[in-house]
Amino acid sequence: MNMTEATNLIPQGLRGKLRMDVDMSRYTSWRAGGHAQRIYQPADMADLIVFSRTLPADEPLLTVGLGSNLLVRDGGWRGTVLLLHAALSELRLEADGLIYAQAGVPGAKLARFAANNNLRGAEFFAGIPGTVGGMLTMNAGCYGSETWNVLERVQTVDRNGNMHERTPSDYEIGYRHLQRIDEKAGLNSAAEIFVGGWFRLEKGDGEISRKEIKTLLNKRITTQPLNLPNAGSVFRNPPHDHAARLIELSGLKGRRIGGAQVSEKHANFIVNIDHATAADIENLIEEVRTVVKQKTGVELYPEVRIIGEKK
Ligand SMILES: Cc1cc2nc3c(=O)[nH]c(=O)nc-3n(C[C@H](O)[C@H](O)[C@H](O)COP(=O)(O)OP(=O)(O)OC[C@H]3O[C@@H](n4cnc5c(N)ncnc54)[C@H](O)[C@@H]3O)c2cc1C
Repeated sequence: MNMTEATNLIPQGLRGKLRMDVDMSRYTSWRAGGHAQRIYQPADMADLIVFSRTLPADEPLLTVGLGSNLLVRDGGWRGTVLLLHAALSELRLEADGLIYAQAGVPGAKLARFAANNNLRGAEFFAGIPGTVGGMLTMNAGCYGSETWNVLERVQTVDRNGNMHERTPSDYEIGYRHLQRIDEKAGLNSAAEIFVGGWFRLEKGDGEISRKEIKTLLNKRITTQPLNLPNAGSVFRNPPHDHAARLIELSGLKGRRIGGAQVSEKHANFIVNIDHATAADIENLIEEVRTVVKQKTGVELYPEVRIIGEKK
C-alpha cells in the first residue's frame, strides 16, 4: 500500500488527518477501485470548516461517508476526498424532541439511538450501511420509508466554510434523488456538503422498535449477499417494477466479468468475488444494462455513484 502520513503538509491550525495517495478500496464497500490524490478526515465540525477555507476554489472535492454506494474508477480521484465517517459523529436528542445527527453517524447507530429514546420511524436506517450524509444525498430508503420523509432540516457547509440550515422545501426530493432547487433552476448556488440533520420521529416504544430492527436485519440476511463485498442495489427500480426481476428474467444471475459477478442471491447486487477491479464492476454494470434493454426493452439506471478516471 502506497500511503504516506503527510501531517507536515497540513495547513496550520488544522487538527484532522491528511494522507496522500490513498487506496480508496479501503473506504468503499465494494473493496475495489483506485487511489485518491489526498484524503482529509477532519477532527470535528470546526476543523472541517477551517479545512474548507483552505481548499482552492477549483480543487475537485469528493465527500465520502462509508462508501457503500460508491465506485472509484481504477485511475483514481484527482482531487481531495473528505472522509466524514468517524469524524462528524455527534448524535443527540434535542430539547424539542428532534434527533440531531451529524453526517458521519452510521444509519444503524441512528436507528438504535431513536429506539433507545422511545422514538419510532427510524428503524429502517438500521439496515442501510451508510452514514447520515450519504443517506441524505441519496435519499436512501427501504421497506416503504425514505430518509427525507423523517427529516425536519439539514445543516450544510459550502466551499467557503460557511454553514447553512436548509429545509426539505429547498430541495427537489425523489426516489434516490435529491437536488437543490436553486441549482436546478441554474441560479448561482455554491456546492454544499451535508454535515448534519434533524430528524422528526413519532413517540413510540423502544422494545417494539428494537424488535422491528431485528426483523428487518434478518430479512436482509436471508435476501442479500452480505458475505461478499457489494454496494447494495446497483440499479434504481424502474417505475412499477424491480430491477432484480428484470435482470433475473434476462438470464444474468451469476454473469461474471473478472472478479465481479451478478449475485446469485439477489440479481440487483454485484458482488466482488475475487479481487474485482472497478473496471470489472463497471463493465458488468454496462453489460447488464445492455442485455436487460435487449431482452425486456427497459432501460436501467445505476443507483451507485461512479466517479474518477479510468485506467
Ligand atoms: C449491503 C447494502 C445494502 C444497502 N441497502 C440500501 C437500502 O436498503 N436502501 C438504500 O437507499 N441504499 C442502500 N444501500 C446503499 C447505501 O448504503 C446508501 O446509498 C447510503 O445512503 C450511502 O451512504 P454512504 O455514507 O456509504 O455514502 P457514500 O457511498 O460514501 O457516498 C454516496 C454519495 O453521497 C455523497 N456523499 C456522502 N456523504 C456526503 C455528505 N456528507 N455530503 C454530501 N455528499 C455526500 C458521495 O459523494 C456519493 O456521491 C445499501 C448498500 C449496501 C452495501
